Amino acid sequence: RAKEQGRNDFRFYAPEMNARMLERLELENGLRRALDQGELELHYQPKVELANGRVVGAEALIRWRHPVLGMVSPADFIPLAEETGLIVPIGEWVINTACRQLKAWREEGLTGVSVAVNVSARQFQQEDLVGVLGEALRASGVPARSLHLEVTESGVMSNPERTIVILRTLKDIGVLVSLDDFGTGYSSLNYLKRFLIDSVKIDQSFVADLTTSSEDAAIARMVISLAHSLNQTVVAEGVETEAQLDFLRRHRCDEMQGFLCSRAIPAADFADILRGGGCLPLPAAGRLHH
Ligand code: C2E
Ligand code: MG
Ligand code: MG
Ligand code: MG
Repeated sequence: RAKEQGRNDFRFYAPEMNARMLERLELENGLRRALDQGELELHYQPKVELANGRVVGAEALIRWRHPVLGMVSPADFIPLAEETGLIVPIGEWVINTACRQLKAWREEGLTGVSVAVNVSARQFQQEDLVGVLGEALRASGVPARSLHLEVTESGVMSNPERTIVILRTLKDIGVLVSLDDFGTGYSSLNYLKRFLIDSVKIDQSFVADLTTSSEDAAIARMVISLAHSLNQTVVAEGVETEAQLDFLRRHRCDEMQGFLCSRAIPAADFADILRGGGCLPLPAAGRLHH
């Protein structure tokens, strides 16, 4: 009986496996086409200074405008891009596009903002990252300091000694580096010091329960004070409520991103914010009682 069931299982699963493989192949081919045919775009989520609401920059987040599926989120294609290696040409496109955008804004007089691009593990370890960055900066003429790279713990911890060499080269070029999703992976505190990181982003999973979980609140406080004592800036990700903002202000977090201020928006909308003075209205401090 079990044997019979096993056979049935096999007959049941086989077509489903094929369907999944086909779907994957289709996605992979689609992604190649997306890159060639200009279906990828960058949206920009403002990074805001907590003290005054000033927009100090934006994080560039990739979007795929699929001809049939509509807007596809990176969570649905970045993992496949990483697996297939397509992340390398896609990542290069992201760096070039971000630099071209910065150049266009600067030509319009919209200076003083930075753009942060996400760099995946595979792209970070890739031989030519420094060359790609150098060329993008040279071609656009934007100052290196206005380009930030966001790397994750897994991106840097798989080969920490090599990471130190890469980060030193990046420092020489002048681009700034943030440690993204901090707290969700494994990073040694010793490396945090040796990595020459300019800023740390508190992962949104800690921010989400900041005001209801004393553990998450403790982690957030710890990250802020650790980063500050290492002379690093702290950015909170995924800030959605006034209570979270209030907590982060009280604990001297430097910057925030989150739906409370703005989602990732098209470049033209971000430029409108800059033209309008470059501030986003933040709820005033101390409106909530504790
Ligand atoms: P990430 O770098 O940690 O980016 C933050 C994500 O949180 C973004 O999702 C952003 O839209 C979302 N987010 C921001 N504020 C809030 C909020 O208040 N609430 C909630 N619920 N979410 C918020 P997105 O754009 O879907 O990107 C997801 C991830 O995909 C990114 O996480 C990053 O790891 C990856 N990704 C995006 N663009 C690129 C890219 O150009 N290259 C690479 N390698 N990865 C990218
Ligand atoms: Mg990021
Ligand atoms: Mg993040
Ligand atoms: Mg994240």
